[in-house]
Amino acid sequence: MTGAKDALEARRVEINGIVQGVGFRPFVFSLARKHRLCGEVANTADGVWVHVQGDSRALDRFVDEIPKKCPPLAQITHLVTTPRPAGPYPDFTISPSRTAQGHTTLISPDVSVCADCLGELFDPGDRRYRYPFINCTNCGPRYTIIDDIPYDRPYTSMRHFTMCPQCQAEYDDPCDRRFHAQPNACPACGPQVQLCDTNGDMVDCVDPIGRAAELVRQGKVLAVKGLGGFHLAVDAENDAAVECLRERKGREEKPFALMAADLERIGRFAEVGDAEAAILTTIQRPIVLLRQKPGQRISGRVAPGNRYFGVMLPYAPLHYLLLEGDFAALVMTSGNLSEEPICIDNAEAFERLAGIADAFLVHNRDIYLRSDDTIVRHVAGTMRQIRRSRGFVPVPLFLRESQPSVLACGAELKNTVCLTREDRAFVSQHIGDLENTAALDFFELTVAHMQRILNVTPEIVACDLHPDYLSTRYAETLDLKRIAVQHHHAHIISCLAENRADGAVIGLAFDGTGYGTDGTVWGGEVLLADAAQFSRVAHLETLPMPGSAAAIRQPWRMAVSSLYHVYGNDFFGLDLPFLRQIDDRKIRIVTDMMRTGLNSPLTSSLGRLFDAVAALCGIRERVSFEGQAAMELEMMAAGQACGIYDFEWGNGADRPIFLAPIISGVVADIQCRRPLPEISRRFHDTLIVLFTRLCVELRAEHGLDRVALSGGVFQNAILLTGMIHSLEKEGFDVLSHRLVPANDGGIALGQAVAAAAMAAR
Ligand code: ZN
Ligand code: ZN
Ligand code: FE
Repeated sequence: MTGAKDALEARRVEINGIVQGVGFRPFVFSLARKHRLCGEVANTADGVWVHVQGDSRALDRFVDEIPKKCPPLAQITHLVTTPRPAGPYPDFTISPSRTAQGHTTLISPDVSVCADCLGELFDPGDRRYRYPFINCTNCGPRYTIIDDIPYDRPYTSMRHFTMCPQCQAEYDDPCDRRFHAQPNACPACGPQVQLCDTNGDMVDCVDPIGRAAELVRQGKVLAVKGLGGFHLAVDAENDAAVECLRERKGREEKPFALMAADLERIGRFAEVGDAEAAILTTIQRPIVLLRQKPGQRISGRVAPGNRYFGVMLPYAPLHYLLLEGDFAALVMTSGNLSEEPICIDNAEAFERLAGIADAFLVHNRDIYLRSDDTIVRHVAGTMRQIRRSRGFVPVPLFLRESQPSVLACGAELKNTVCLTREDRAFVSQHIGDLENTAALDFFELTVAHMQRILNVTPEIVACDLHPDYLSTRYAETLDLKRIAVQHHHAHIISCLAENRADGAVIGLAFDGTGYGTDGTVWGGEVLLADAAQFSRVAHLETLPMPGSAAAIRQPWRMAVSSLYHVYGNDFFGLDLPFLRQIDDRKIRIVTDMMRTGLNSPLTSSLGRLFDAVAALCGIRERVSFEGQAAMELEMMAAGQACGIYDFEWGNGADRPIFLAPIISGVVADIQCRRPLPEISRRFHDTLIVLFTRLCVELRAEHGLDRVALSGGVFQNAILLTGMIHSLEKEGFDVLSHRLVPANDGGIALGQAVAAAAMAAR
């Protein structure tokens, strides 16, 4: 203690956020010691409590340094300092947890192995040399190994492993990097890896990981148990291996993700800008979309028809060891059959991946909750989520204000759920397309798990308006106040919520599919919206979708639909290359369907208009995943502006945006052999100018100068960047997605906030 006795001051510091299980108390302890302060630190029900006393300037510096120097996994949301009378503290100590009822502390996500642990992993002198489960309070698994709260070892899948005396000593020592690191383990006491054959029998070998890498080098498909589930790995340079994986997995063309050892290796096959490098190396280690380099040697079957690769760096120690096999990159795709949830359990993997993997690299640390890899893209100056999962879940989003607890069930595709507690919204990991019982089981498991570990009992359940979504049906089984939120309203409110904005906005909801209030399929919508209500003030004219779901899989049907809409039966006489590719009889069947209205629901979807234009341009007649044609149209677009098509909208409260000027412009360009990159660019720029003008008109009419952009079509980087710039140039305040996906993965957040507002009215 320094200074005279009358200089002694004391403070209480209360800190909330992600401050438990991340090394926060040892950090406070060493910070207090550094500043020669006395007192104590303890965990409480909702955070960390500090009593600290000493010289007043030292106290100021101490408090100042808490947020600046806190551990890497900590996230401080509130820090409150209050003066207190000094107490009898001879030194600074760490007190046991003051547990209480109603635990509300936040749980850290799973993050990549830290630099300190990595150093030990490759240090021959370290007792954890080459131990694939090395971790500390700054790194390793969290969310995926928790079964219940509080976050203590007995409530995690580490409960089956008793720490050896050395590990226990680290665990108990406040000055150790592994103080209270729940997954702490070493080769003597912790989980172990095994290589297994297709029968699930152990392959006897000294170095299972090295042997597994050898198999991959030989072109075999390896199932690897990671942090949030199984991956299927093959050598990304081996065409035959990649093709074999596609065939076995039943995944025709959807791109595979890659994992490469370091930035230098990634730079050999993809463009890595400074922003991308920064994102790749964050502790969350997401998959980042990177432009492919010309002349690179990755198999063309990894991302067919795509100019980008989804690439990540290794994040589990196991990955680092596997990548020592000197691969340019590994394909690391979710360990599942197409459209099913990722495998997490060993026995389940042996069974479900039986026809896919040639060998299994497994371990005996259970995964309680699956979590896919997160996918992001750097667009318009910032990182945007495409699939928010591992590394980000269960970090909450902070809402503008507290609200009653809502369970929002999300939509159908790319489903996530959202639970709110006070001003926090917990969006789940990616659950997937709710189209089979396996996905529905995972959905229900996630809902139950999140309620348990977040200690939330919802008062309201929110769902989509669509009566047939499995998520809606699930909501109907709950004995709670139920509120249905229109799909595009939810999209726009999701964007508002993550930007912590409230009040009314002009919402541009550009999407593939969503149930409209008039029973048609919406997706090219301009809404005036606040959290509690919306009105539809403009929309694309509707087109029939001949064959309904078939029109999504076969964009040529949308192209024919658009031609029929503009030219009637005269379109048969048009000289368009794509028409010559398709059997005349098929075209007649489709036009008959539209004429009679048979199985041809009407849609105002911009996603479908993209499909139509892509097919008109001859880019592709059919797709193997939704949005594929639209994505290829985007990638083909010319870098330079080259004019736009005419556009026009009608009068009336809902301003139908006419499609004829745009479609006939595209047709004329195709007929005069304008290069496709220019047509694509013109189409994008037309939409940007059209919707900007529309917003200007709406601003004059309604006095709103804020625009929110949401819906899956905003994954299109040209459209997103163009809309933001163009609207900002007109003086609009533009809100877009960063923290949750613009696609249906972000819907649950919007539903949760809209439902609370609607319930309050
Ligand atoms: Zn570590
Ligand atoms: Zn040990
Ligand atoms: Fe949507």
